[in-house]
Amino acid sequence: MLAKLQKDIAAIEAEAFLLTNPANVRYLSGFSNPQDARVLVFADEIILITDGRYNAQAKTESKIDYKIFPITKTLNEYLAETVKGKKLAIEADQISVKQYKDLSKLLGYEPIASEDIVAKYRLIKTEAELEQIRAAAKIADDAFSHILNYIKAGVKEIEIALELERFMRMAGAEGLAFDSIVASGYRSSMPHGTASQKLIESGDLVTLDFGACLDGYNSDMTRTVAIGEITDEANQIYHAVLEAQEAALKAVVASIATKDLDKIARTILEKHKLGEYFSHGLGHGVGIDIHEAPRLSMSSLDVLEPNMVITIEPGAYIPGKIGVRIEDLVFVTADSYELVSKSNKNLIQL
Ligand code: ZN
Ligand code: ZN
Repeated sequence: MLAKLQKDIAAIEAEAFLLTNPANVRYLSGFSNPQDARVLVFADEIILITDGRYNAQAKTESKIDYKIFPITKTLNEYLAETVKGKKLAIEADQISVKQYKDLSKLLGYEPIASEDIVAKYRLIKTEAELEQIRAAAKIADDAFSHILNYIKAGVKEIEIALELERFMRMAGAEGLAFDSIVASGYRSSMPHGTASQKLIESGDLVTLDFGACLDGYNSDMTRTVAIGEITDEANQIYHAVLEAQEAALKAVVASIATKDLDKIARTILEKHKLGEYFSHGLGHGVGIDIHEAPRLSMSSLDVLEPNMVITIEPGAYIPGKIGVRIEDLVFVTADSYELVSKSNKNLIQL
């Protein structure tokens, strides 16, 4: 890893590279509070830099050497001093204008604004990373089975979200992959309707989109369930989305363009006159970040490769009225895929 990094850093004519993106810091160091740390890469070493609160933690967790910066200095002062006369590159999309100006002043020159070099490494997962994501997905699958006993008319969306969280954390998750979406009835038409105080009612569709974070790696899954009898329209939308989801899923294979996968799902929803209601892309990569490369959408130029981890999540949302999304987590393989989220996708009526 260090050799690859050093080559990429040399290619942008830098002698040192400062990583501030928490996902990249965690990826390179294993340190579990990456928002309070940096990684500095030189030609001959790679170091984690954090503050005094994390001394014991850095010692146990960090896979690379670490340094605690002194409380008598600001982080930027310490970084500038550590880098000394070397030409520094920074992650352009991770630093504010103010931090950039401060750092430039301390260094006496403007650091090179680099692309996200490490994101490219994170695209293709190792076996160990896949194992983490499988384990995170298993927790979410178990949570889904568990939560089916709680979802009923008269219960608040937020109660469902809290019970999902309680279950996943007790099962070993270090946290949620993101704020759980529990969107019932008219709120199911909001693709990102995080759980509210709304009561679930009979006749509602309820969209549950959630995931577990385990040792830094996330899972992501969506299921939509029905509360009692639902309208014919709701039933039709559900089955159209399911048809689109399964068709796109079956087509997952290394070397397919993600925009072609998106097209498979979109064409089916168009056939059911729901094309205009599929208002987002087909899916995204998942790893240390819940949304990372590759992108699966009409405009994406990404092509799948073995050991990418992606979601397949078409949806249809009729504003103010009703919505359905079904999402699976998938590993790309050379000749097919591995389905990682295993929860049932047939319409569940509670
Ligand atoms: Zn999701
Ligand atoms: Zn997703």
